[in-house]
Amino acid sequence: MTRDEALARDATDPLRTLRDQFDLPQGRIYLDGNSLGALPKATPARVAQVLQQEWGQDLIESWNKAGWIDTPRTLGDRIAPLIGARPGEVLVADSTSVNLYKVLHAALSLQQGQRRKVVSERGNFPTDLYIAQSVCRAHGAELVLVDSPDDIEPQLDEHCAVLLLTQVNYRSGRVHDMAKLTRWAHQAGALAVWDLAHSAGALVVDLLGTAADFAVGCGYKYLNGGPGAPAFVWAHPRHHVQLTQPLTGWMGHAEPFAFTTDYHPAPGIQQFQCGTPSILAMAALACGVDTLRAADGLGGMVALRGKSVALTEAFIAAIDKQCPQASVQSPRDVAQRGSQVSISLPSNINGYAVMQALIDRGVVGDYRVGSGSAPGLLRFGFAPLYVRFVDVFDAVTTLADVLTRDTWREPRFQQAGKVT
Ligand SMILES: *Cc1c(COP(=O)(O)O)cnc(C)c1O
Repeated sequence: MTRDEALARDATDPLRTLRDQFDLPQGRIYLDGNSLGALPKATPARVAQVLQQEWGQDLIESWNKAGWIDTPRTLGDRIAPLIGARPGEVLVADSTSVNLYKVLHAALSLQQGQRRKVVSERGNFPTDLYIAQSVCRAHGAELVLVDSPDDIEPQLDEHCAVLLLTQVNYRSGRVHDMAKLTRWAHQAGALAVWDLAHSAGALVVDLLGTAADFAVGCGYKYLNGGPGAPAFVWAHPRHHVQLTQPLTGWMGHAEPFAFTTDYHPAPGIQQFQCGTPSILAMAALACGVDTLRAADGLGGMVALRGKSVALTEAFIAAIDKQCPQASVQSPRDVAQRGSQVSISLPSNINGYAVMQALIDRGVVGDYRVGSGSAPGLLRFGFAPLYVRFVDVFDAVTTLADVLTRDTWREPRFQQAGKVT
């Protein structure tokens, strides 16, 4: 792909207008929407309105008048079609970590102590493992971590209570077959809990179609909800009746304003709410979700996924051609790849410094350290709402230049910040 060809692809891209929804920095190519989504243009005014009018003027009346109290559900309803769920099944609350704690407890409780094994991957995102360790301790369960996707199936036996997986691996971008693994888990009598942190807004997710049991997901990645945006939680409706979750706060009570002494859970997904919803943060998240729903009339998530695939394909082809030092660590099979591409570099090239040099040149991705035999990775995310083909071309050309000219060797690129 030449630069002119890239520009031509952008000019005929049916989704090209969706980028106009964002306030993107001039002169920068943002390839980190998988870590922190971009700022929608609508967000500042909407948050200001909630601050100044709903809070400033209407004060406590806004809980009813502006519908604040229902926001966790109404916003959940806006997210539902993006993940193959129905209205009434998704709740926006807390962080992904906290929601994982709740659903993992709920799943183990549904197994009534009959089964004591939770299966996950060593390569899962660390917070998922840390939360799983804590929940397993509380339930007297054992957390079994497999090293390869091929090792999952043999663990799905009569002892397995829960299969806990993140659909898209945060390092490699590899995608699990949610339908197949959920089916295998169910055949073994286990429940399937899915983390959709890198899926929601990037892939076509079909929670009901795959009959998954529980799911959680992140608001600040492809949903563009802003730093630390609230997360979401879903439970299959077949579990809504028997559900129990451990953070039994008043907002998950059947009648929070009856102020009774004893806890009685609200029906359905509502019981996953613990405390008072974060209204300002939800106002920002709603604007982010709207940027995805703006694609509804343009083919929705199917079209967005199609563009994401085309972007990652173009990126990999350009890396192969222009950066012989780099090796692509994400699956080359598009069906197994999410919306990111990770590359590694030989050990005599400091990958972290290369990423800092790239950022200095206006190409923003991120770096994840290696461990054991796993190499350090330069990650590039391709949020299909706002990344263009010309961005792919320019990013790879810049990377090739940084590698050829060894600019990454400058001392200022060697210093690591607190957040990488
Ligand atoms: C980003 C991410 C999270 C984030 O969890 P927080 O509670 O929002 O910090 C959790 N799990 C996975 C797999 C992620 O990629």
